[in-house]
Amino acid sequence: MLASKLYCPTLRDDPAEAEVASHKYMLKAGMIRKNASGFYSFLPLARRGVLKIEKIIREEMDKTGAQEIMMPIVQPAEIWQESGRWDVYGKEMFKLADRHGNEYCLAPTHEELITTLVRNELRSYKQLPVNLYQIQNKYRDEIRPRFGLMRSREFVMQDSYSFDTDQEGLEKSYQAMYEAYSRIFTRCGLQYRTVLADSGQIGGKHSHEFMALAASGEADIVTCTQCAYAADVEQATPNPLQAAAEPLQAIEKFATPHCSTIEDLVQAAGVPAEKTIKAVALDIDGKLVLCMVRGDHEVNEVAVQHVVGGHDATPASAELLQKYGLVPGYMSPLGAAKASEQFHILVDPTAMQIYNGVTGANEEGFHYRHVTPSRDFTGVQVAAIRLITAADGCPECGAPVQLTRGIEVGQVFQLGTKYSEALQASFLDKDGKAKPFVMGCYGIGVTRTMAAAIEQYHDERGILWPVAIAPYEAVILPLNMKDEVMVTTARELYTQLSADSSEIVLDDRPERAGVKFNDADLIGYPVQIVVGKDTKTKGTVEIKVRRTGVKEVVPVHTAVGRVQ
Ligand code: ATP
Ligand code: MG
Ligand code: MG
Ligand code: MG
Repeated sequence: MLASKLYCPTLRDDPAEAEVASHKYMLKAGMIRKNASGFYSFLPLARRGVLKIEKIIREEMDKTGAQEIMMPIVQPAEIWQESGRWDVYGKEMFKLADRHGNEYCLAPTHEELITTLVRNELRSYKQLPVNLYQIQNKYRDEIRPRFGLMRSREFVMQDSYSFDTDQEGLEKSYQAMYEAYSRIFTRCGLQYRTVLADSGQIGGKHSHEFMALAASGEADIVTCTQCAYAADVEQATPNPLQAAAEPLQAIEKFATPHCSTIEDLVQAAGVPAEKTIKAVALDIDGKLVLCMVRGDHEVNEVAVQHVVGGHDATPASAELLQKYGLVPGYMSPLGAAKASEQFHILVDPTAMQIYNGVTGANEEGFHYRHVTPSRDFTGVQVAAIRLITAADGCPECGAPVQLTRGIEVGQVFQLGTKYSEALQASFLDKDGKAKPFVMGCYGIGVTRTMAAAIEQYHDERGILWPVAIAPYEAVILPLNMKDEVMVTTARELYTQLSADSSEIVLDDRPERAGVKFNDADLIGYPVQIVVGKDTKTKGTVEIKVRRTGVKEVVPVHTAVGRVQ
C-alpha cells in the first residue's frame, strides 16, 4: 500500500472527546470516525485490524469443528416473546416496527434466533453435538456509550452456540470454547485473565469472563502477582467491606457442579473446613440467592454483612447484592465485622429443603421470606463464594494479590435448557424420547478486543500494536522524496517486500521527515524501515521496532531478509 493512497486522515491534535487511549489514538490515527453517539465508521486501518482479529477467531473456531453461519440482525418480536425476554431485556434493546406494524428488534444477541433456527431441523442425537457461530454486528442501546469502540451501541461480536444432548456434553463443548477463546486472546497478544462470572441477561448457570488487564477497564478484579489467578472485586460505593479491618480484595465465585453434599463441596473447593460458612442458597433464574447463613455465629456476621443483605440491609449492601446477582432471602441484624480471614460461603442443598417455602420470622426474630426454586434447580450448581482479603494472599499459590482493572473482551456461558425449553427446541434421544437441547453460548467483542489491545499497548506517541493484529506490519520511510537514491532504494525495498506480502506500506508522500515519523509512530506500524541520508552515503537503512524502540542499522541488500 502506498501511503499517498491510503485513506487515513490523521489528526494533529488530541481529540477533546476521547477519555481513553484507544479512543484517542483510533481517532487521531484516522482509524475510526463517529457518526452518532456509539456508532462508528471503520476506515481502512481499523477495518484491517478487525479483519485480522476475525481471521484468528475463524481459524481457532474452525479448529474446534464449529461451523460459521450468518443470521439476520433484524429479529421478529415473537421469538423474544416466546423466550420471555421481549419485556425483560429492557431499554438496551433497539426496537422497530415495519410498515404493517409488526415489531422487531436489532439483535443484541442471538440465543432466540438460533434456537428457533435449529428447532425443526436438528432432530436426532446422532447429529449432536453441533456448534454454530457467526461474526456480525450487534446492537445495544447502552445507557452510557463511551470510550469509543470499548462501549459502543453497534459493535462486532463473534457469537457461537453449542447444542448437546446432556450436561456432560455441554461441559465438553464449554471447555473446548474456553480453550479456543484462550488461544484467540493469546494470539491477539492480549494480557488477560479469566474470572468466574455472573450470567447476567443471557441467563444460565456457569460462566466465565475473559478480562483484558488495563487501567481503563470498567471491571475491578484482583489478580495474583505470581500465578494466573484472578477474581471479581466488589466495587459498590461506599463499600461496606472497606470499613473492615482487612479490606476485602475480591469475591470469587466458583462452581463445583458435581457436588451433592456440603462435605463434597468443601473437598472440591479445597477449602479448610474450619474456614467455611454454611449457607442455604437457591439458584433462581440463574441468580444465586443466599437465604440464610448458619454455623459459627461470629463468622456468620461477617458473611451476612458482606454478602447477604435484606430488607434491613444498608443501601450499600443492597447495591452489593445487586451487583453480584444476589437476591436477599434472609435478613439478619448485623454485628461487627471481622474479615481478617478468607471465608468461603458454601451452599448447603439439604438445608434448602428445610427453609424453602417458609415465610416469617424465626425464634431469634430474624426475617426470611418465601423462596421458590427455579424449574431446573440442581442443588449446588452455584456452589461457593470465596471472600479474599489482602492478608489471605492468592488462594491458588499464597503469593500477594493486587487490585487491577479489566476490560471484558469475551464471555462463555453454560445455558442448559433455558432457551430450548422456552422455545420448544428438542431432539430425539437414543431412547426415542424428545429432549430439549442442552445449550451453551459464547461471545467475543471483536471491536472491543481491538480497543483493548491499544489500551494495553501504547505510549505517548501512539499505538504499539501486537504484530498479529496490526493493520500493517511494516512501513518504509524514505525521508526525502526529492532525493533520487532514497526514493529508488525505498521503491526497490517495497517491491521486494510486497512481492509475497500485503502487509507493507511505503510512505511515498512528499512530507517532511518529522511528519512521516510522527504518523508512523501514531499508527503504530510494528516495524519502520528508515531510508535516509545514510542510505546514500553508507548504503544502509535503519530498522526500528516500534514497541521496543530497538534500532538496527543494516546494509540495504540485507534489509529484506531482516524484515521478513
Ligand atoms: P458489558 O458487561 O461490558 O456490558 P456484556 O456482559 O453485556 O458486556 P456480553 O453479552 O457478554 O456483553 O457480550 C459478549 C461480548 O461482547 C462482551 O464480552 C464484550 O466483549 C462485547 N460487548 C458487549 N457490549 C459491548 C459494547 N457495548 N461495545 C463493544 N463490545 C461489547
Ligand atoms: Mg452489557
Ligand atoms: Mg458483562
Ligand atoms: Mg458479558
